[in-house]
Amino acid sequence: MSFTFAPCPQAVLPVEGENNSYFPIHRVYGIARNYAAANAALGEKTEPSLFLKPADAVVYAPEGKTLELDFPQATEDLQHEVELVVAIGKEGKNIPVEEAMDYVWGYAAGLDMTRRDLQRASSAKGKPWDTAKAFDESAPMTAIKPAARTPDNEPMSLWLYVNNEKRQEGTTEEMIYSVPEIISFLSTLYVLKPGDLIMTGTPGGIGTVHAGDTLEGGVQGVGILKVKYRG
Ligand code: MG
Repeated sequence: MSFTFAPCPQAVLPVEGENNSYFPIHRVYGIARNYAAANAALGEKTEPSLFLKPADAVVYAPEGKTLELDFPQATEDLQHEVELVVAIGKEGKNIPVEEAMDYVWGYAAGLDMTRRDLQRASSAKGKPWDTAKAFDESAPMTAIKPAARTPDNEPMSLWLYVNNEKRQEGTTEEMIYSVPEIISFLSTLYVLKPGDLIMTGTPGGIGTVHAGDTLEGGVQGVGILKVKYRG
């Protein structure tokens, strides 16, 4: 086989604690409005809000280092959302909730960076969220920690500081849809594949990020990431 030009490199995240081992990314699914306190006004549980980001929107933020990124174009209101990321390791569709955890390969901490002004404008017109969610470098993430080395069945706390000031704090207990429920729901719409990542929503405290800001966030037991937007 010959390509008309060199294909883009496979998007990957390293596996935490292992040398030269990489998790190849297939798709990135995002669940919106999934934390009770942040979305009290939404009322009863109906079905999760879903969006996708391209695999190459993921940028690796190595623990203990600061990932420097250019401030994204076309926004006056870039916002941070710190999230637990679930990494899928097995193919499946119509997965029962009780079996969903068998499909989890590992976890990462991630930032679902959002161009909120574009999202507001799209939502107001009933348009899709792609320009708000699926832009370049919109998903900084830690390495992926295998599930076998991650505390199981316990609420995980997550947090985010901007310039050393606490902005977001919560635990996965506040999720409206649990990780198994999200996996089960997604698998009724898509065939889940090894390499899929799921961003599971963000707790309260989202806010605007400016050029020059440093974001430091994490998920307890999973990872910590630090991102600076160049001024
Ligand atoms: Mg989000």
